Amino acid sequence: MAQKMADEDGILEIARKTVSEGPICDHCLGRQFANLSTGMSNDERGRAVRIMLSMQRNEALALDHGKDCWVCNGLFTELDVWAERAVQELESVDFDTFLVGTMITGLLAENEEVLWTLSGTTFAELLKSELNREVGKRICSITKKEVEFKRPDVVVIMDIEREQVRLDINSLFIYGRYRKLERGIPQTRWPCRECRGKGCEKCNYTGKQYSESVEELIRSSVLDFFKGEDMILHGAGREDIDARMLGSGRPFVMEIISPLIRHADLVEVVSRINEDNKGRVEVLDARYADKEVVRHIKSTESDKVYNISATFKSKVNKEKLKSTLRALSGIIIRQQTPTRVMHRRADLQRNRKIHEAALISFDDITGTQAVIQLRCEGGLYVKEFVNGDMGRTEPSISSLLGIDAAVKELDVIEVSMDLTGERQWQGLEANAGKRDTN
Ligand SMILES: [Zn+2]
Ligand SMILES: [Zn+2]
Repeated sequence: MAQKMADEDGILEIARKTVSEGPICDHCLGRQFANLSTGMSNDERGRAVRIMLSMQRNEALALDHGKDCWVCNGLFTELDVWAERAVQELESVDFDTFLVGTMITGLLAENEEVLWTLSGTTFAELLKSELNREVGKRICSITKKEVEFKRPDVVVIMDIEREQVRLDINSLFIYGRYRKLERGIPQTRWPCRECRGKGCEKCNYTGKQYSESVEELIRSSVLDFFKGEDMILHGAGREDIDARMLGSGRPFVMEIISPLIRHADLVEVVSRINEDNKGRVEVLDARYADKEVVRHIKSTESDKVYNISATFKSKVNKEKLKSTLRALSGIIIRQQTPTRVMHRRADLQRNRKIHEAALISFDDITGTQAVIQLRCEGGLYVKEFVNGDMGRTEPSISSLLGIDAAVKELDVIEVSMDLTGERQWQGLEANAGKRDTN
């Protein structure tokens, strides 16, 4: 409120200096006093200042030469034109919320600063801000869509220099869980180790280490619905390439880049994904979400349940195996970074807790094969927990039994997430297949 205490003479002085430089439009005049009053637009404010000046000088009211304004070069007479340009671009895009931004020319920015210096105003609003707001209001009334400052679906960018409008379409986020029913598929695209994605003989010039990934399989089914440029898969952790992901699936987010469509029936989308990838990849529980969910699932380390198919170098006593597994409940496993990932990870010690381990099945004939179910903290290297990694993981199944053990096959059965943090966004689109179009 202190700013509003500007004294009358001071305001008149600024007004006089502002109009003395050359023809100026009501918008540009009023904008110099924007922080002094609320509840009116800059052009209304400018008109009021102009009236005040004419009364003071006891002369006829000078006309508002909008087109000749030396500050904006007549930009504010073209608000409708800019709004029309924007609406035309927006016609091809499905959106609920938008925001307007301006790329101003150097000349306009310079004019504005010259005026501030000349008039001595400290109450001015930026030309850009007024332009964004005024064009935004017009787009609003034509399209009936809402302005959203934090996470608009689309950002309308007015390029003043080129007299063009372009759109930045923000990503669309869909939360779900995936099941990977086949071994040998990585979660995301994996560039060829040889050429790092450029394409070489080794990768058959695909640039890829694996020809398929969960990401690409889902992507090709999904992009059709949303007419996006790309889809990125954000997973809550990842399983090994040769492990399946079963049970209730792994939480993940599909980020659709630059979607032209934001409202599709997710029930249909999911059934298309599952139809296209039968027996390989399945998606469940899809719902619209926002960017916040990506951060949430990336930063939450969740408990995991594994089914481990293990082999032993020599015969194991079934009862001993049972009691060994039982005794693991609540035990902390100390793991030095596994040898197999040493080339891309720092050599650290991790401590992960085993919640529960149990024997699911045992091959009584050979005595060298078993299926073990393990519930543990996320981040445990399961293969090393079984084979001991030459003493780098302690204790391990191998060290406890005194018999070399190895993982033959691995399935992730459950990735449990703490859902309390998800409430905020779940509330928005709770368990709905369709997104409300209103
Ligand atoms: Zn102007
Ligand atoms: Zn290659």
